Amino acid sequence: MSRKLDTGRNPSLKELAEADRISKLHPVQQKHHPSSLPADPDKLKHINTYGVLPEFYLDRAFSCRACGKQEIWRARDQKWYYEEAKGHIDAMAVECHNCRKAKKQQQT
Ligand SMILES: [Zn+2]
Repeated sequence: MSRKLDTGRNPSLKELAEADRISKLHPVQQKHHPSSLPADPDKLKHINTYGVLPEFYLDRAFSCRACGKQEIWRARDQKWYYEEAKGHIDAMAVECHNCRKAKKQQQT
């Protein structure tokens, strides 16, 4: 299964402000936000953690650790990453699309 994680690239200031705003809401409000996606606990069983598994995903703004660019990690991309790609739960998008792409090209 391959899929490009292209969404959230070059977000508008409005989108970034909204992602920032919902990150500060009460979890109950976050859960009912339109960008919220419910998590599937059955697909998170690979995660061996003493922490609490997420109940839902939210669009999340982050700054690239390499170049500082702000992008948004979409709720649906997080769901795919954790539940289909079986990513580690502590993993977060930390680099922007351009930096990840540059890294990939160096590796090949
Ligand atoms: Zn970057």
